[in-house]
Amino acid sequence: MKIETIAIHAGNKIDEHSKAVIQPISLSTTYQRALDGSYPEGFIYSRIDNPNRKSLENVIAKLEQGPDACAFSSGNAAAAALFQALSPGSHIIAPDDMYHGLRAQLLQVFEGILDVDFVDMSDLPAVRKLVRPETKLIWIETPSNPLLKICDIKALVVLAKSKGILLACDNTFSTPIFQLPLTLGCDFVMHSTTKYLSGHSDVLGGVLVTAVKDSFWDKIRAIQVLGGAVPSPFDCYMTVRGIKTLPYRMRGHNENAIQIAEFLEKSAFVEKVYYPGLESHPGHEVAKQQMSTFGAMLSFLVKGGSDEAIKVVNALKIFTQATSLGGVESLVEHRASVEGPATKTPQNLIRVSVGIENITDLIKDLENAFKSID
Ligand code: PLP
Repeated sequence: MKIETIAIHAGNKIDEHSKAVIQPISLSTTYQRALDGSYPEGFIYSRIDNPNRKSLENVIAKLEQGPDACAFSSGNAAAAALFQALSPGSHIIAPDDMYHGLRAQLLQVFEGILDVDFVDMSDLPAVRKLVRPETKLIWIETPSNPLLKICDIKALVVLAKSKGILLACDNTFSTPIFQLPLTLGCDFVMHSTTKYLSGHSDVLGGVLVTAVKDSFWDKIRAIQVLGGAVPSPFDCYMTVRGIKTLPYRMRGHNENAIQIAEFLEKSAFVEKVYYPGLESHPGHEVAKQQMSTFGAMLSFLVKGGSDEAIKVVNALKIFTQATSLGGVESLVEHRASVEGPATKTPQNLIRVSVGIENITDLIKDLENAFKSID
C-alpha cells in the first residue's frame, strides 16, 4: 500500500457490532474476561493497551516502516522512555541545537543517571571524537530546531553501527512523508505527534517506532505500560484522525514553505534564511539525498536585532505568535525570548511553522509586517 492509503486505513477498524465506518473511541478502562478467564480481544486494562492506542501505534509503525510503535502522552514522554531504557551511567551524544525541552530533560531529569555531550551533528569528525566505550545512544534531529541544520543520517548510521551504538532520530520536523530514518538504518524514530501527525494543534502526544522487536524494545514497552505516560483513547482517536490527511497536508505545507523561503531570501528586510530547500543552505545536498522534499519549518534573521524581530512578529496578522509547530495554521516565534538568557539562538531569528493558508495571503502578511521596521 502507498502512504496515502496507509494513512487512511492502517489506523482504522470498522466496528464489528454497529458497523460504524470510523472506529469508535473506547473509553472503558477495563475489559471483560471470558468464562475461561482469558481476554478474547487481548485487552485487559487501558493503561496496558486499548483499541484506539493499538490503531494509532499500527498506523505510525506502518508509515515509518517499522515492526512496532509505542505511543505516549507527549513527545517528551516518548523520548524519556528511550533514555530510561538505557543502563545508568550510559553516555549519550545529542545535537547542540536539540529541541530545548529535551535538552532540559536530559540535563535536569537524567542528571546523575546519564552522561550527555552536545555537539554539532553535521560535523561528523566532532561526533566521532566524542564516542567512548560507555556511549550507548546517538540522538539526532534533522532538520534541527530552530536552525534547520541537516545531519547526514547514513554517515551517522555507519559510525553508530561500527561502535554498537543505538541511533534514534527525532523525525518530528520531517514526518514520514518526507523522511524515513528507519529505512536509512536508524534504530528508532521518535515523534512529537502534537505537531504534524495530529496536525491541528489540539492534541498532545508522542511516539517511538523501532526497527527491530528485541529485548531493548520490550523494556521500552514495559516503561510505557508500567511508567504509565500513555495517551488517552480520545487523544489516540484525534491523532489517528489527523494522520488520515497527513500526506495531503504535508504537500500543502511544503509548497507554501518553498514560496515563503524564496520570498524571504529576496526581501531587503531579511539578513539570512534557514531552509534546507534553498541551494544556499549548507545542508541542501545532504537533505536532497535523505528527504523527498524539505518540510515546512524555516527560520530567518531580520536585519537588525531583537527589537526588529519582535516588531515584525507583533505586526503579523495571519501568522499567530505562539510556540509549537505543525498545525494547519501558520505560527511565528521569536525563539530567543522563548529559550531564555542562556540561548545561543540569534536574537534576530524568527522561526516559522508554515501553515496551509493561501500563499498570497501569507506573503502579503509578511510584506505588511516588514513595513513596521522600514
Ligand atoms: N521534538 C521536537 C522537534 C519538538 O519540537 C518538540 C516540541 O516542541 C518535542 C520533541 C517535544 O514534544 P511534546 O511537546 O509533544 O512533548
